Amino acid sequence: MAEILKGKPVADAINAELTQKVAQLKSRGISPKLGIIRVGARPDDLFYEGGAKKNCAAIGMESEVFEYPEDIQQDALEKAVIEVGAKKDVHGILMFFPLPKHLDGKKIRDLIPVEKDVDCLTTAGAAKVFTDDPTGFPPCTPTACMEMLHHYNVPLKGKKCTIVGRSLVVGKPVAMLLLREHATVTICHSRTENLPDVCKEADILVAAVGRAKMVKSNFVKPGQIVIDVGINPDPDNPGKYCGDVDFPGVEPIVAKISPVPAGVGSVTTSVLCKQTLQACEMQTA
Ligand code: NDP
Repeated sequence: MAEILKGKPVADAINAELTQKVAQLKSRGISPKLGIIRVGARPDDLFYEGGAKKNCAAIGMESEVFEYPEDIQQDALEKAVIEVGAKKDVHGILMFFPLPKHLDGKKIRDLIPVEKDVDCLTTAGAAKVFTDDPTGFPPCTPTACMEMLHHYNVPLKGKKCTIVGRSLVVGKPVAMLLLREHATVTICHSRTENLPDVCKEADILVAAVGRAKMVKSNFVKPGQIVIDVGINPDPDNPGKYCGDVDFPGVEPIVAKISPVPAGVGSVTTSVLCKQTLQACEMQTA
């Protein structure tokens, strides 16, 4: 039986620390605030927005949603993002992507001021992360993976970490964060040969593939630690979602495994708040 690495205790521990920090800032007359920019009303965006607002409220931090219609034109949205970015009382910005097809998402995201880019949406923000600049904020999901590993005292130095997935949102930044902690990192993708064997070599396996239950029992070995980042519609349970790991097949073999739901995904909004608070501290220092 593997140890189940649940996200809630990790989120609770982060939130307890943040609650104290918010109170300290407020006692100095500073009120940290997350700004959320949303175009349209996609259910996934609304779901994440709800979680972010709830987490902000739980730690005493303000949040404000800046909502725009789905048919907003490029010029108008550019102006709006610049305006939100310039607001002195907004310290961190979350914006939902992808944008509707008629908009140039790359141009829009780069209008977010880098010091408020708490989810690594901008090219300048990514540059900071990939050059180990401590003033940069990695995307919240990779940071949530690291929070999980730290909370559950998983040693990283010198360990073989294999990541399945090379996206800019998860795979690549989590590789950078693991390298910072002196892990030996392998990044796999759709062209990797002998994927199950490569995964089996790892001490720590991070699955960020976006394919339901793809990581099966032949990808893992006893003693491994498995972090499942995936959020996919569950093909076997309509209306539910599942991870990239075939949990029933893998769990009996490995030492520790994060579940889906209730794993990494439960930690991301706490990380978003943590990084907004750090941004606020830097902007008000
Ligand atoms: P992307 O689709 O952007 O990237 C998927 C990666 O997996 C790509 O690098 C792709 O390789 C690789 N891949 C796809 N199929 C295979 C395969 N058969 N074998 C090996 N590698 C493969 O996804 P994201 O990185 O955005 O997201 C990954 C997962 O994490 C998704 O399930 C997503 O829902 C979830 N997610 C969860 C979050 C959370 O808060 N928990 C937040 C963000 C994402 P290639 O580059 O060669 O195409």
